[in-house]
Parts: sequence; C-alpha cells; structure tokens
Amino acid sequence: MKWTAKWIKPKIDYGDVVPVFAKQFQIRGKVTKAVLTVTAMGVYEATINEKRISDYVLAPGWTTYYKRLQYQEYDVTDFLEEKNRLSILVGKGWYRSNMSGKMLTELKERPCGLIGELRIEYEDGQNEIIPTDESWEVSESEIRFSEIYDGEICDARFHAPLNERVEVFEGPSETLIPQEGETILEQERFTVAQIIKTPKGETVIDFGQEITGYVEVTLEAKAGEVVCLSHGEVLDKDGNFYNENYRTAKAQFHYICKGGQQTYHPRLTFYGFRYVRVEEFPGGLDQVKPENFKAIAVYSDIKRTGYLSCSNPLLNKFFSNVIWGQKDNFLDIPTDCPQRNERLGWTGDAQVFIRAAAYNFDVEKFFYKWLGDLRADQTEDGYVPQMVPDSWHFEPSVAGWGDAALICPWELYMAYGNEEILKVSFESMKKRVDYITNLTQEENLWTGCKQQGDWLALDGENGSWKGGSREDFVASAFYAYSTSLLIKTGKILGEDITEYEALYTRIVNAFKERFPTYHTQTECVLAAHFGLTKNAQAAADQLANMVRENNMHLTTGFLGTPYLLHVLSDYGHADIAYDLLLQDSYPSWIYEVLHGATTVWEHWNGIKDDGTFQSAHMNSFNHYAYGAVTDWVYGVAGGIKPIENAPGYEKVRIAPIPSERLDWLKATLDTRHGRICSEWKKEETYWRYEITTPVEAEVVIDGEKHQVNAGTYYFYSKRR
Ligand code: BGC
Repeated sequence: MKWTAKWIKPKIDYGDVVPVFAKQFQIRGKVTKAVLTVTAMGVYEATINEKRISDYVLAPGWTTYYKRLQYQEYDVTDFLEEKNRLSILVGKGWYRSNMSGKMLTELKERPCGLIGELRIEYEDGQNEIIPTDESWEVSESEIRFSEIYDGEICDARFHAPLNERVEVFEGPSETLIPQEGETILEQERFTVAQIIKTPKGETVIDFGQEITGYVEVTLEAKAGEVVCLSHGEVLDKDGNFYNENYRTAKAQFHYICKGGQQTYHPRLTFYGFRYVRVEEFPGGLDQVKPENFKAIAVYSDIKRTGYLSCSNPLLNKFFSNVIWGQKDNFLDIPTDCPQRNERLGWTGDAQVFIRAAAYNFDVEKFFYKWLGDLRADQTEDGYVPQMVPDSWHFEPSVAGWGDAALICPWELYMAYGNEEILKVSFESMKKRVDYITNLTQEENLWTGCKQQGDWLALDGENGSWKGGSREDFVASAFYAYSTSLLIKTGKILGEDITEYEALYTRIVNAFKERFPTYHTQTECVLAAHFGLTKNAQAAADQLANMVRENNMHLTTGFLGTPYLLHVLSDYGHADIAYDLLLQDSYPSWIYEVLHGATTVWEHWNGIKDDGTFQSAHMNSFNHYAYGAVTDWVYGVAGGIKPIENAPGYEKVRIAPIPSERLDWLKATLDTRHGRICSEWKKEETYWRYEITTPVEAEVVIDGEKHQVNAGTYYFYSKRR
C-alpha cells in the first residue's frame, strides 16, 4: 500500500510511560465507508470517541520487525460521529520491551512510533485521508509502565492532557506488510476457583487453570488505593506462592484506583499464570473476594478442529493440558513458554509440536505467517535460527531446530493439502539442506558441530540437558530427514531434485555404516522412523526392550519423544506404546497430571516426587513440546492420519488400534473436507468401532481393509 501518513513519536522520550497519540476531526457529510490502517513500533490500542475499534489485542503482533512489520485495517464506519477523537496508545510490546536476545537490542532503542491513516469515503463521492503527521497531539497516558516480561502499572486517576506536539521521523516503510497471521483475541474468562491463605500467610488466588492472558479486577475503591498482583504457575511443596522460575520477568500488575466502581485489566502485555498473589488490595487483603477477579485467556484466533476423549480420566486431563499448552503458547507466534523471560519462538519446539497442533486447531494461517518470519530470518548461507523472530542469532544452526524450515511446511501441507506453503518454502528448504552440507565435518553425515542434542532427555551423562544420544547421530538423522522432505517437496512442485536424491542415498548409506548400533531410546526411534537402519524391526525391538528394561518408562527428550510411540506401534509393539502413554509413575505424561499439571511441563520432572522442583532457573510448567504425543493418539489410537498422495484428507484412511487398557476412545477431526470421527469400544468378546467419514475412505480394522463411501459405519473385531 502507498502510505500518505508519516511516522510520529513524542517530541520527548516518555521512558516507561505509555504515550497516547490523538487526533480530533470533524466529518464533512454522510460517510459511506471509513477504514483505519495502522501499525506501531510497539503494541497499540486504538479508540474512536473512547470506544475500542477492534477486539484485536497486542496488535500489530510479533514478526521479524527488521524485515516485516504487519499493519492492520479496520472498518470504523460505524464509530464516526460528527465530531471525533481518534486516540491510540502505543506500549513497548515485543518491539521495544526488554526481550531476551542480543538481536533485539537495536529495536529496543528505537522510538515509540506510530503510523496510520484514516480513509473516509463520503456519499457525494469525495474522499478524505486523515494521516498521522505533525498535526497530531500526544501526551503521557494512565499506563505508567508496560513491558512484555515485567507487566503493567496503571494509574486510573491520570487524565491525559493531550497538549504536546508530536515529531515526525523516518520509520520503516518498505517492511510494512498487511496482516498475515490470525488476530489475537481475548478468549475464555475464568472465575476464581479458590482464594488461598498460604502457610506464609499470603493471599493467593487460584484460577484452576494455567492460562496466558491477564487478570481483570472489578472493585469499589477510593482514588489512590492500590491493587498489586504477582503471577505464578504453581505452588511450592509447602503450598506457598512461587515464581522464581520466571527468572528476571517480574510479571506484575499494579493498579492505582480512581474513585468509585471500576473494572480494569492490563492492555498492552500478557502473563502466563494460574495463581496470583495479591500483595495490596483496597481495605486490606481480607477484603479480597472471588467476585473481584477474573482471568482472561488471550491467544491467536485459531479454530479448534480436533477432540480426543477416552475412558481414562487422567489421560483426558492430559489431553486438556495439551490443548491449553497450545492455546497458551499460540499467542501470535509459537512460543516455548508464556511466563519466564523467554516467550520466544523456538524453532525446535515448534517443529516437534506442529503435527499435534494441526490436529487440535486449524493452524495453517498461524504458521504461514511465522514461516514467513522464518524465511525472513534465514540468512543467505541457509542458516535457520533457533528462534523466530531471531533474537539471539546463535551460530551455528542446530539439528532439530533449524529443520523447522522443512518439517513445518511439510506438516502444514499434509494437514491442509495446500501446495502454496511448499512453493513459498522450497528455496528456504533447499538452503537449509545445503547449509548442513557446507557445515559438516564429514561428507554425507552431519558431524563435528555444536548441537542441542535430544534436548532434556533423561539419559544424559551427569544429568546433561542435551541427553545421552550422540549429537552426531541425532544431527545426521535430521540431515537425512530434512533431505527426504526436500525431495518429496521438489517432486510435488515438479522441481529437478536429482542432486538431492543422490545426496539422500549417500546420507542413508553413510549413516548405516557409521551408526550400526543404538545406545539410547531416541537413537532407536530416529534410526527406525527416518529409515536409517538396515533392520528397522530390530531397532524397534531393541527400543521395546529398552522400555521394558526401564520398567515401562521412557527416557526420550524433545527430538525422540514425538516419534517414540509411532515406532513402537509401527513395528508390532502397540501394547508398549499404550503402556508408555498410560504410565503414571515418573517419567510419564500422566505423572505430570498426578502432580497437578494443567498444561504440559518443560521437564519430565518439573516437580519431583518429593514435591521439590527440578531447578529454579529452567523449569517451565507450560512448554508444549511433550504434548506432541497426542498426534499418535489421533493418528494411531484413533487411526486418523493424512495420506501422502491425498494430503489434507482429500482421501481418508482410518486405521484405529484399540488397547485392552482402555474401555473406549474417541478421536474427532474437522478437516477441510468435513468431519472424521473414529471411536472404539470394548464389548465382552469383541471391539466395536464407529467410523464416520465425510469422503470415500479406506478403513483398516485389525489388518483388514474396507472401502467405504461417505457415511457412518460400524465394524467389529475379536478381542485377544
Ligand atoms: C527453551 C526451549 C528451547 C531450548 C533450546 C530453552 O530455554 O525454553 O524450549 O528449545 O532452550 O536450547
């Protein structure tokens, strides 16, 4: 778009105080349409005549600002009166907050900038543009402080005088792009589950669910009285408020009341929390009542598409935790966690979880935008950062993280059947594979480089977070896998990929030669799942034995866990896959549930059996990575999996695998072609299946194939 508007900023730097920019104007006749186009270096909230023009929060969202800054367009026709005031708050947001990462340092130093223009069309055919320019006014606002990690301070007594001139400056222009992702919205609202007086004597509110968003306070107060809240995810073993694991993120909300009845919540930041410690409250902490507080979840407007349920309530709770882990970490970009001083778009976490994510919700648009940032951050030599937007620029790019450049587009294509994402990603995919080819110390493998390993696996020496799988093994496995995805993509797009086919053959051969034996569960998983072994059955059998020897427990980290159950069930060990899924002692998914989890933990032992924490400085209770296992529940237990030559469920194959350990299980998926539903139930001597397909499908029951048309069908198989 061609902008008439100029970037504006306050003449003097307001420091931590959020400025409010404003323009008064009158309309000249009957308006047929009025559209406001706007963006900021920060996050903004716009009102016309005191009414918010949109329910989009934290606009313009987070992108690789150096290269891409989204602007939004709002139809504001209905907001206009004869005399109007357009005002826009601009907080620091991701652009200017103290976000973790050296790459963001320069952004932080940029001014608080706003650009926007209101285009008005009159009934008589005349047009008018009201752009940001020298004529706007600005002043300090009631938001005295606002920052992503540290929270917000609002003084509701403050009234903006709006009497200062703005300054026009040269801001970004080429990098402005229309909104590409989902809008960010306020979603569920939670009432207080309980108010706790902790052993330390503190007053703590429990909302019963960890969410990302903020707390809204409603109260009657005198001007100048204060509400002060700190946020936390869990209570410690004694039942006291705890948030040491937020590290330097202060995550506070401080509200100075005006007089009378009032309702308020932070507007330009967010928190990851379940508990809130009330540190100050009008009339004292004894006055804290459930009706004073609500928690509001804030995340991208992704639509729910997948549902899982079964006869085991603990597993159902885990399914719910995975859904919440996704909501909480899908606030404009896929983040590692929503609470501590990170909240970054770690590429490894995103690729690990994307398949499950695409079952649970329609995430095509969400990831399409983020992958645009990934490509923007990728350098000419093919380096893909460990987080997107790149905040640290950790060189070199590592296995399992940078491979998001291939795995994420591929998974989107499989889930939604749209080739577009492959087209726009193909060059980036190629560059990623070439990057590894140029970086490795040994031809046809990926060796000798710094790696992240099978992050947080439990088999590392001396408890190393990199796990016990050999780094060169893991890296070479991902080199092979990424190359295989590049080849598949090239074939779909009709590109010449003969060179990469030859490379792939060489990698697989070199891998088999170099790594003929497997030392860890993850090594078995990757060798079998990526087709890098002379005998996949033997690798899977070895895996099954390792699990048995470990008393039916896993040891896998971020990179092995997503494929662990798949390898077991693909090679005849579905019973062991179920044993792992239903395991309730440490380490397991249900162990977390039994220790009170309402989201998915970063570490298998985030809270240990004795109630103490894994660590203080690296212990999030809201990391979605291990929730990846639910893709197995949809795809294998429920049997709903996309097919490669008909992606996006254009054709459907449903091959459920029941387990004696459950009485029933139901998986439902809304696809672009309609709803698929797969349900099985234990009867006295047989399994009863109810299968619904919106299109022609192949249903596989106990190894037997059935061709069916759209409709609902019942099948039976013998229990063994
Ligand atoms: C993040 C992770 C990430 C990892 C990689 C952590 O601090 O929270 O989820 O993938 O670092 O090193």
